[in-house]
Amino acid sequence: MTTDRGLLLVVSSPSGAGKTTLCRRLQREFPALAFSVSYTTRPPRTGERAGHDYHFVSPEKFSAMVSAGRFAEWAEVHGERYGTDREPLGLAVAGGRDVLFDVDWQGARALRAAFPIDTVLVFVLPPSLGELEGRLRGRGTDPPEIVARRLARAGSELSCFTSYDFLVINDEVERAYQELRAIYVAARCAQLRRAPFARVLAAQLEPPSAG
Ligand code: ADP
Ligand code: 5GP
Repeated sequence: MTTDRGLLLVVSSPSGAGKTTLCRRLQREFPALAFSVSYTTRPPRTGERAGHDYHFVSPEKFSAMVSAGRFAEWAEVHGERYGTDREPLGLAVAGGRDVLFDVDWQGARALRAAFPIDTVLVFVLPPSLGELEGRLRGRGTDPPEIVARRLARAGSELSCFTSYDFLVINDEVERAYQELRAIYVAARCAQLRRAPFARVLAAQLEPPSAG
């Protein structure tokens, strides 16, 4: 399928709601959807790969990148810093490619401000707070104090849902995935994205101008 104008699919959620699980699956089904690999000062979790999940950098390196204007947006989340590299994002937008972002509400807000008509904002909700806690503990990747810090922030993160275009409730992963997939596929068919193709087609049908 060809699209004429790329979109920026932004997925956020409270930690543990399942956005990484859903995003990874979307990438598997749509390999042309490029994932924006963020920079972070947090240490890698077991199983995370540098350059694939994140670019893991020291606080000093992150500060130097901020000073050099390397980030399209950056934010402090759960006591660590995370940022979106400006250069690959600019190249993808210029090339009309679709890009997937796993960023928090601050990142979503900054991307919407920078690319108002090209962003599609999706917020993933857990089915309940008890289930959120169970998933964060069950993931087994963070020590108890980090889990507690993430849970403490869940309430304020959840209240940000009002700035998003779509809400996906991740109760059953297959059903939630089908909703995320449907949002992406429908967004690619938006008139403004297909308009360049439609204009070329329409121009071919116009009668040659007189004179
Ligand atoms: P996030 O990226 O939002 O922090 P993850 O994708 O890492 O969340 O998911 C947190 C944990 O919950 C993981 O162990 C994941 O396998 C599990 N999980 C994700 N979606 C579901 C679901 N629908 N039902 C049960 N467990 C899930
Ligand atoms: P985690 O440490 O669980 O991978 O991510 C913690 C939070 O940081 C999540 O809400 C995630 O979406 C967010 N995040 C990851 N990368 C970025 C980024 O580049 N910018 C912003 N603003 N948030 C990010």
